[in-house]
Amino acid sequence: MKVVLQNLTKKFPSRNKKDKTEVIAVDNFDFEIPDGKLIGLLGPSGCGKSTTLNLISGLLSPSSGKIYFGDTDVTDLPPENRGIGLVFQNYALYPHLTVRQNITFPLENLKGAEKLTREEMNEKALEAAKLVQIDELMDRRPKELSGGQQQRVAIARALVKRPRVLLLDEPLSNLDARLRLQTREEIRRIQKETGITTVFVTHDQEEAMSISDMIVVMEKGVVNQIGKPQEVYDDPVNLFVAKFLGTPQINVFNGYVKGERIFIGGADVASAKGVPDQEVTVAIRPEGFWVDDNGPLRVHVNQVEVMGRDVSIVSTHPESQNVEIRSIINSDYGLPHDVKEVSFEVKPHKIFIFSLEDGKRIYPEDDGTEEGAPAPEKAPADEPPTPEGYEIKAVVAGK
Ligand code: ADP
Ligand code: MG
Repeated sequence: MKVVLQNLTKKFPSRNKKDKTEVIAVDNFDFEIPDGKLIGLLGPSGCGKSTTLNLISGLLSPSSGKIYFGDTDVTDLPPENRGIGLVFQNYALYPHLTVRQNITFPLENLKGAEKLTREEMNEKALEAAKLVQIDELMDRRPKELSGGQQQRVAIARALVKRPRVLLLDEPLSNLDARLRLQTREEIRRIQKETGITTVFVTHDQEEAMSISDMIVVMEKGVVNQIGKPQEVYDDPVNLFVAKFLGTPQINVFNGYVKGERIFIGGADVASAKGVPDQEVTVAIRPEGFWVDDNGPLRVHVNQVEVMGRDVSIVSTHPESQNVEIRSIINSDYGLPHDVKEVSFEVKPHKIFIFSLEDGKRIYPEDDGTEEGAPAPEKAPADEPPTPEGYEIKAVVAGK
């Protein structure tokens, strides 16, 4: 079931007594979540992820705009009639009920033709429990389960009515690191097995990148970029997106363009063909450096961290906006541990420059044709779906 958000906006009255400006939690969202895909809704805390999810679920109604499930307008439909499954960060299980009873709970009040016998309910609960691999825990109560198991019960409960759309709001945040990893892979597997269109909300870029077919990067209620995780990483439309994706974070420098070359301090680091002379923000991915005695960018080395396959060089440079520059270099290079300075060459496809004014990417320029390039401000409304069938249309709102 595809989900279409059409000019969707949600405003909240201000909570601030002095400043009465209303909060625009979701600002004119206009995109399509393709059928059967897992979409990662990604952004820092407070950017409007939960609000978006709650609009899709029907727990909140929009200030303006429409929501469609398939071709049906569900904007005014209450949550219970939308065919959604919801999972939250705090599993919200009933402590006094068993796992089986928790899972059958959404089935208890079905009426008329939908009404199920106890046997049918238990059968459906077992089926959902098997999917999340907790079918041996059916008689336990929540407090007898680990956090990961409790979250699986919550997922089974969300799946038991065979929802058309599964909505997950930071479902892994309460789990420890190892369980988080394991459970996110589980969610991916379950999503693939069931083919249920899924929206997965998280502030964790790695989590979103690792399991999503598409990510939607949000900032302050505005969609910045939509695309396949790798494409958004390789082709960020602005500095915010470039900084938000990737660990270690992208390295950011004060720089300038002169004679179609990018400079950091006095160092000529790369080409910026066609770009007029101006001051810019330069950003280089950690994996974008070569150590080369003749390289232009000379940095002071604080530390060389051995990571096995790679080494991480932690360094400083007067024009760096980050306190430290992090460069990931293949350990075969055999850098001495006590090295004080190194020179870097920069890989051309790992360097970006952004406008000082609005943070938009200046170079490499988006020619609008290459695979994964950010789409124009608004795609034509009648554009046919791509052969793969899951490119999201309409990228980059507002800004
Ligand atoms: P996220 O889930 O990305 O952390 P939210 O969707 O919860 O963000 O919140 C987005 C913005 O809307 C925040 O500024 C938040 O304070 C505001 N907000 C959320 N819910 C309400 C509400 N019920 N009343 C007023 N402001 C709200
Ligand atoms: Mg939230």
